[in-house]
Amino acid sequence: MNKITIENNKLVIPDKVTIPFIEGDGIGGDITKAMRLVIDAAVNKIGKEIIWLEILAGEKAFRQTGQWLPAETLEKIKEYVVAIKGPLTTPIGKGIRSLNVTLRQDLDLYACVRPVVYFSGVESPLKHPEQLDVVIFRENTEDVYAGIEWEASTPEAKDVRDFLKTRFNISLHEETGIGIKPISRPASERLMRKAMHHAIENKRKSVTIVHKGNIMKYTEGAFRTWCYELAKREFADYIVLESELQGPAPSDKILINDRIADSMFQQLLLRPADYDVVVTTNLNGDYLSDACAAQVGGLGLAPGGNIGDFYAVFEATHGTAPKYTDLNKANPSSLILSAVMMLEYLGWQEAAKSVVTAMEKTIQSKIVTYDLARQIEGATEVGSLEFAKALINNL
Ligand code: NAP
Repeated sequence: MNKITIENNKLVIPDKVTIPFIEGDGIGGDITKAMRLVIDAAVNKIGKEIIWLEILAGEKAFRQTGQWLPAETLEKIKEYVVAIKGPLTTPIGKGIRSLNVTLRQDLDLYACVRPVVYFSGVESPLKHPEQLDVVIFRENTEDVYAGIEWEASTPEAKDVRDFLKTRFNISLHEETGIGIKPISRPASERLMRKAMHHAIENKRKSVTIVHKGNIMKYTEGAFRTWCYELAKREFADYIVLESELQGPAPSDKILINDRIADSMFQQLLLRPADYDVVVTTNLNGDYLSDACAAQVGGLGLAPGGNIGDFYAVFEATHGTAPKYTDLNKANPSSLILSAVMMLEYLGWQEAAKSVVTAMEKTIQSKIVTYDLARQIEGATEVGSLEFAKALINNL
C-alpha cells in the first residue's frame, strides 16, 4: 500500500505515496519541517499526497537506538525506493565512517546529481550569474571517497608500504598514510549513461567530461576514455564530438567534450554559458558543485539527489550548520529544491514547477531567510518556517 514499485524496469508511483525522511542533525529539524509544509501544499494542489515516514540516522538515531545508522533505516529506503534526508554530522578524522558515504555506497546510489541555476534577486559574485545553468553528475561510489585508506601508524599502512617497496621498488616515508583511488569502467560508464539520458530527456546541448587525466592517467584519464567510449557506443545517433567539429555544433546533437578539472573551474567562472551537463569523478564533483553553488549565491539554494538505478535519496548540498540548530533561522530552500528534484523523479512535474516558480516569486519579493537578507537591500528577514509559509502563499 502506498509503495513505489518497479515494473518493467520503470517506477510505478501511486497517487498517495509513502516517502521516508531523515530529519538530519543541526538545522535539519527546522529545514525538514519547512520543506514538508511546502511539498505537501504543492502536491495536494495536483490531487496527490505524500505520507511522510520518519526513519532515523545521525545524532537522533544515536540518542534513540545507540546506532548512528540503524539497519532498519536502509531497509526502509529499499522498501519505499525513494527518500529524502537532511544533513548529517560527519566527525572529522574519527573512526566513524561518514553516514552519507555509507548510505550512498550501501544503496549503490552511484550518481550524485546537482543542478545549479540562478534565482533572480540573489546577490552573486558574478556579473552574469544567470548564464550559469548546469547539472553536475558526480560519481558517488569510487575515487578517494571509497574509504580504502590506512592511518600512517597502522600495521596495514606498513604492509602496503612494504608491498610497494618489494614489488615495485617504491619507497615511502614511514610516516605516510595511504589512500587508494579506485576508478572502474563499469562505474564510469553507468554514470555517463545516466548523464546522457538526462541530457536527451531534458534537451540539453552538451555533456562535458571533467577529469584530471593529464596527471592521474589510469584513473581520471581512464574515466575520460570510458565516458567517451560509452557515448560513442550507446548514443551515437544523438551526439557530436567537439574534437570532430568544424564550426558550431548542429542544433539537433548533443556536444560531447572534456575539460581538465582545474581549467573547468576557470571555464565555469569565465564562460558559464558554454556548459550544460557535467559528468565527473567523485572528488572533482564535490569541489565543483560547491564552487558552482557559490557562483549563484551560496549553498542555501543548492539541491542534490543521490540516484542509483531505482533507489534515490535526495538531500541538500550543505551541511548541518550547527550554530543555527533549532533557531528557525536556516534557509530551507536547498532542501525544498531537493524535494523538487524528488517530485520530478516521481514524475510530478507540475507540482515541482509550481514550487520553483513560487520560490522565485518569494525571493523576488525580498522575503528571505537571514543568509539572503544580508545580501539583498531592503529585504524582510524571516525564519525558516515563515519563509515556507510565504512560499506556500505564492503557490
Ligand atoms: P555547513 O553545515 O554547510 O555550514 C557552513 C556555513 O554555510 C554555515 O555556517 C552557514 O553560513 C552556511 N549555510 C549552510 N547551510 C545553510 C542554510 N541552509 N541556510 C543558510 N546558511 C547555510 O558546513 P560545515 O560547517 O563545514 O559542516 C557542518 C557539518 O555538516 C559537518 O559535520 C559536515 O561533515 C556536515 N556535512 C554534512 C553534509 C550532508 O549531510 N550531506 C554535507 C556537508 C557537510 P554562515 O555561518 O555564513 O551563516
